[in-house]
Amino acid sequence: MASLTDRVAVVTGASRGIGRGIALELAKRGATVVVNYHASADAAAEVVDEIEKAGGKAVAIQADVSKLAEAESLMKSAVDQFGKIDILVNNAGTTRDNIIMLMKEDDWDVVIDTNLKSAWNCIKTASKIMMRKRYGRIVNISSVSGIHGQSGQSNYAASKAGLIGLTLSLAKELAARQITVNAVAPGFVLTALTSNLPQNLMDELNKRIPLERWGTADDVAYAVAFLASDEASYITGQVLTVDGGLIIS
Ligand code: NAP
Repeated sequence: MASLTDRVAVVTGASRGIGRGIALELAKRGATVVVNYHASADAAAEVVDEIEKAGGKAVAIQADVSKLAEAESLMKSAVDQFGKIDILVNNAGTTRDNIIMLMKEDDWDVVIDTNLKSAWNCIKTASKIMMRKRYGRIVNISSVSGIHGQSGQSNYAASKAGLIGLTLSLAKELAARQITVNAVAPGFVLTALTSNLPQNLMDELNKRIPLERWGTADDVAYAVAFLASDEASYITGQVLTVDGGLIIS
C-alpha cells in the first residue's frame, strides 16, 4: 500500500459518497486530510471523527468550490493550518439529468459550475501553492459519461469530458514543476448521486458491466490513492477508468 505519510490532501465534496471514501483512504495511508463540504456539515464532521478515531488527522472546511473566492479561502485555510497542499482531489459533483428539450439553462449552469469550474477554481489556487514546493498530485474525478456520453446527461457528460481536457492541458502546463495531473473516471457507484436512477436503466447497466457488479467508493479511492502517491510520480495526463470493464463492453 503506497504511503502518504506527511502529505496534506484537500478532497472536495468529501462529506459523502465517493469523496468520503477517498478522504478515509488517503488518511488511512497517512495523509492529513482537509474534508471539504458544501451543505452536509454533520456528515463532514463524521468523516473527520472517523479519521481521528483511527489515529489520523483531518479537518472539515465548508466551501462552495464552484465559486472562485470560496475555493481560494478553502486553500488558504488548508495552508494556514497545515503549511502546504501536496494532494488535491477534485471530487465535488452533482447531476441535474434531463433530455435537452426539458433541461433548463440553470441545470446546465449548475452542473458545469459544480463539476468543471470548481476543478479549475481549485487547481488555479492550489497549483500556486504546489509550485512553490515543486511537488503536487492533482486527481480530477471524471466519469465514463464524459468518455462515452450518456443520454439525458448532456450537462453532466460535457462537464466530465471538460475535466479530461482540463487534466490533459494542465498536465502539460504543470509538469515542469513536478506537479502531476490525472483523472479517474468511475463507472457506476451506488451513492446519493445514482440512487434514484430508473430501475430499467439500473437493470440495463447491470447487464453491461463485465465484472458483474457496481463499483464501490473504495474501488475509486484505491485508484486515487495510487495516483496521489510517490509511486505514481512518472504518470501524468492519464485517465484511469474504474468501471468493472463497462467502457470496453
Ligand atoms: P454524492 O454522494 O452526491 O456526493 C457529492 C459530494 O459533492 C458531496 O460531498 C457534496 O457536499 C459535494 N458537493 C456538491 N456540490 C458542491 C460544491 N459546490 N462545493 C463543495 N462540495 C460540493 O456524489 P458521488 O456519487 O459520491 O460523486 C462524487 C464524484 O464522483 C462526482 O464528481 C461524481 O460526478 C463522480 N462520479 C460518480 C459516479 C457514481 O456512480 N456515483 C460515477 C462517476 C463519477 P455536500 O453534501 O456537503 O453538499
